[in-house]
Amino acid sequence: MAMTDSDIELPALPIDDPVADGDGVPLGLPPIERRVFCNRTLNLRKVRAIGYDMDYTLVHYNVEAWERAAYEHMQRKLSARGWPVDHLSFDPTVVIRGLMVDRDLGNLIKANRFGYVKHASHGLRRLTTSEKNKLYARTVVSPADDRFRLLDTLFSISEGVMFAQTTELLDARLLPEVMGFADLYDGVRRALDRAHIEGELKAEIMARPERYVELDPAVPQTLFEQKLAGHALLLITNSDFAYTEFMMAYAFDRFLPDGMTWRDLFRIVIVSARKPDFFGTDRLPIFEVVTGDGLLRRCPSGIPADGVYLGGHAAMVERHLGLDGSEILFVGDHMYGDVTVSKAIRRWRTALILRELEDEILALTRFRPTQRLLMDRVADKERLEHQISRLRLDLHRDRAAANASPLHLAAAEARVKALRDAILALDAEIDPLARAAEQLGNARWGPTLRTGADKSYLARQLERHADIYTARVSNFQLATPFAYFRAPYGSLPHDPGPAMS
Ligand code: IMP
Ligand code: MG
Repeated sequence: MAMTDSDIELPALPIDDPVADGDGVPLGLPPIERRVFCNRTLNLRKVRAIGYDMDYTLVHYNVEAWERAAYEHMQRKLSARGWPVDHLSFDPTVVIRGLMVDRDLGNLIKANRFGYVKHASHGLRRLTTSEKNKLYARTVVSPADDRFRLLDTLFSISEGVMFAQTTELLDARLLPEVMGFADLYDGVRRALDRAHIEGELKAEIMARPERYVELDPAVPQTLFEQKLAGHALLLITNSDFAYTEFMMAYAFDRFLPDGMTWRDLFRIVIVSARKPDFFGTDRLPIFEVVTGDGLLRRCPSGIPADGVYLGGHAAMVERHLGLDGSEILFVGDHMYGDVTVSKAIRRWRTALILRELEDEILALTRFRPTQRLLMDRVADKERLEHQISRLRLDLHRDRAAANASPLHLAAAEARVKALRDAILALDAEIDPLARAAEQLGNARWGPTLRTGADKSYLARQLERHADIYTARVSNFQLATPFAYFRAPYGSLPHDPGPAMS
């Protein structure tokens, strides 16, 4: 007699999530703050090449130390121009990545996913809700508008802090030659640009890298294992050759197998890449870096062979590798320069590195019981609001009816009043909980990816442009080079679930 499927006794599937197999290979999922999160499904096995940005991606800096150094260089430059900034000091808590600068009004703002301003500060002072509404009720903010600038990398922290502080100097009429907030912002930016481009700041970082770089031995190992698994690796950085060479050797070589250096990991290294233009449609020239001290040779017909180059553009890389954009994953920390343009123009697969996420996830996890309480109370309030609305409508109808009994009306009014009191009592419970939720991660601005119950503007950009995101590159080691990142079932307000009952 033929056997059917139901006759076969199948072994039980190991669905009980073993932590390790017999040889001690860890099989459990990484802790939540170390996971890779997915917006659009991405199968790493289908990815043929992985490109990496360097600064704040492969090499992570101590933000407080690096940004303080950048801030102090900027301060010296502004002071030399006669700005009275010597008494100012760097405070990294003043801004977070994802805020926007309003160049017209001199404000820092945090917008929600629709571009509506949810919080604003002028200088170091938080605007009240009514001040904010007066200024922004009819404004939809976007970095495409010249009025607004997004702080889209950790390198923007020093700039945001200096802008907030100097706004107060401009208000106090201590900057006579500065013609308004746009001029102020542009002055701060120019000073920061010069600090980054001129050699002094970088020389200081290279003289004492142990102070500025946060080493992560698992990052070189991650790339080594990706290479073993057959991925072609690329390094595409805006940093110049000397700085890149120094930083990569410092952060990578000691953690690689004997005799191997960071250069051996990559098929192509591109320095001074000029992202975002690198991903654009301009055909920027490319040069081969032919000697250790950075001597260049022009390559008029594109990339001739694997190696180290300066400049060029993304189409050259695709042509050299024989790949199209959907087979290349680019991993970077700059929302616009690394992620938005590589996705929008070249349709590369994209990953954003968002280091803040690690602490924020831990803070959100600790806050979960309070968050649940907050959501329960808001749901209670919604129910009472519905009841009060029904009763009010009933009262209107009764009053309009010729034969309404005064006793009945008085009873209904008393019920409305009781409900109103209950809602006020709930508000007194909800307010401090909501305020605590708005201070997670940063006491002034709250979590990077949220504004209250909604997503932040940065979260919306992340969703649109980054296929995946994670706090650090070494999380790809925990995920393995064979991971299949699956987009979650996206929630919509009408989804049946606990919120609907
Ligand atoms: P990447 O992240 O590896 O592409 O490199 C970033 C490079 O850009 C670093 O060398 C930074 O010093 C530099 N950089 C970051 N922000 C600015 C800026 O505002 N002006 C000029 N250079 C910058
Ligand atoms: Mg970077």
